[in-house]
Amino acid sequence: MSYELCKITELIHNCSGLLVGAGAGMGVDSGLPDFRGKDGFWRAYPPLSKLGISFEEMANPRWFSENPELAWGFYGHRYNLYQSTNPHVGYRILNNWVKKFKIPSFVFTSNVDGHFVKSGWDQEILECHGSLMRLQCLKNCGQPVWNSNDTKDHTFEICSDTLTCLSPMPKCPRCESLTRPNILMFSDFYWDCRIHSIQEKQLDQWLQKHGTENLLIMEIGAGLHVPTVRFFCESTWKEFNCNMIRVNPRDSQSPTGVISMPIGALEAISKIEEAM
Ligand SMILES: [Zn+2]
Repeated sequence: MSYELCKITELIHNCSGLLVGAGAGMGVDSGLPDFRGKDGFWRAYPPLSKLGISFEEMANPRWFSENPELAWGFYGHRYNLYQSTNPHVGYRILNNWVKKFKIPSFVFTSNVDGHFVKSGWDQEILECHGSLMRLQCLKNCGQPVWNSNDTKDHTFEICSDTLTCLSPMPKCPRCESLTRPNILMFSDFYWDCRIHSIQEKQLDQWLQKHGTENLLIMEIGAGLHVPTVRFFCESTWKEFNCNMIRVNPRDSQSPTGVISMPIGALEAISKIEEAM
């Protein structure tokens, strides 16, 4: 389905609430890798290519017990990257809309980069895979999840040949055990989901308050590879019988009634902004 920018700007102006569902495609325009396919992942992490470890294998909590230096090499590298990268201007444009037009908004994202929080959504957000900006105790000693910035060890020195972490790895402030990022990995039975549960409740309340009248869902860069965001947006769209825009340059096919913008996140947001 082709899109008309004037229709889209009208939907934004008239909505009772804007629900942004964002996947990896939102981050690529900031210059972040999306780990799409083995080759994409290995281009970003040559040492893991040498070891033959795929993203699905690497994103597994067992590395923290079996090879903590490699586990923190991988996650420490990503932490450094997400911290040192600025969210692209599309984040600021979105934030300007909700401020300028006083639109209640909520973000549902699978991205663990913390970039929506950096861009102003520190409360109205559900990070469905957690966040690399938070830590949890590997031993689950009872210490509540905490922000990575709260600890002194918040930058990592990583060996570029072996991807091992050379700097001290963050310790639990309560029991001194090793920590891990508070993100949902594969085969992950130890993810501390308490913050996630709080965020879920907040989203529920937000939807009851702002979703029942004239909700607008804007799904951005959420593909079929890990389809959590896409499924959530589609099921919410059906449940609330509302309007939805899908921004996706690759997996742009959409159910009838959904407006599809088959272009990248930043390009789509910029085009809408120009038409505003
Ligand atoms: Zn602990």
